Amino acid sequence: MAEQAEERLQLAVEATKLGIWSVDWKTRKLNISDRSRSIHGVAADREITLEESFDMIDPENRDHVIQQLHAAVDAKTSFSAEHLLHPMDGSAPKWLRSTGKATYNEAGEPILMTGTILDITEEKRNDQRKNDFISMVSHELKTPLTSMNGYIQVLQRNATRNADESSIAVAEKAIRQVERMTRLINGFLNVARLESNQIHIERSCFDLSDLMAEINAETSMQVSSHNVVFAPVETTIVFADRDKIGQVINNLISNAIKYSGHGSSINVACITQNGRAMVSVKDEGMGVNKADLPKLFDRFYRVNNAESQTIAGFGIGLYLCAEIIKRHNGNIWAESELGRGSMFYFTLPVDPKAS
Ligand code: ADP
Repeated sequence: MAEQAEERLQLAVEATKLGIWSVDWKTRKLNISDRSRSIHGVAADREITLEESFDMIDPENRDHVIQQLHAAVDAKTSFSAEHLLHPMDGSAPKWLRSTGKATYNEAGEPILMTGTILDITEEKRNDQRKNDFISMVSHELKTPLTSMNGYIQVLQRNATRNADESSIAVAEKAIRQVERMTRLINGFLNVARLESNQIHIERSCFDLSDLMAEINAETSMQVSSHNVVFAPVETTIVFADRDKIGQVINNLISNAIKYSGHGSSINVACITQNGRAMVSVKDEGMGVNKADLPKLFDRFYRVNNAESQTIAGFGIGLYLCAEIIKRHNGNIWAESELGRGSMFYFTLPVDPKAS
């Protein structure tokens, strides 16, 4: 019976193309399945240690993977990481997804760690193709859009000269639409840049309260549909990318506007707690289901319900916000009650030199 079960398990593992590995935590000796061996380009009779397998990881990812693995062992949780591998036999580099979990003795010390590896090179390549495509199309769309913007402005100027009120109004609407499209295209370009690691965080020391005051002034000029209220902010010096943090706050405010009714209030605040600045944007809008909350920050994720389907979007705004905040060692999250409104928060470390 046990043998049959084992055989069935083997077949299932084979079908998923998963490689299996386990490591004796004390001796560091790795026991690897045939598939793991071939993925790593390790000869059939060659014994290998955990450390030797780390050496095959691309230097860009190595420290991160090792740290993740040890953190999972310490916290007694599962480990999961994606990384580039340079096989031992010198064959072409591969992308791997590795997972693992340790077992412990009665004293709580790790004895054995077991896990899987999967070759995801093709998946990564497809992602890359998709990114290249998005970035190429976005670039191509930008040029005609810029020209269009110029032409409409000429029309608008002519209409102003001729005091043609209806043409002035139409030109203004056309310009709003061009701006909207420009924002969407820039969003796509940012996603593509981000995924090929071309987003650069340019840090400087600045006062978040100044940035909030600027955003307050812009918002009160541009938004008449909602009552956007900024709470007073004390001097809060952070070492961060000012433009990108501004982009995050603006994004949260425009979402609050997008997903709540005309005339409702939106409250924006920034406080400092335990060495962290915490910015919050609260609305009284449609809210988000509990199950959807953690997924809001995923790429291309949009809540699928009757209300949100009528609101345009691609589900990249919050993804970009999360990636920007992550690169600042901050956190971003949302709380909400369906039908009552949402609160979006993010934190940033306060510059220690400033306090
Ligand atoms: P988009 O708005 O373009 O769809 P986002 O990434 O900004 O993309 O948001 C992802 C999803 O999160 C939205 O589709 C919406 O369902 C939900 N969402 C974001 N902000 C709010 C909010 N303030 N209130 C309710 N739902 C929101």
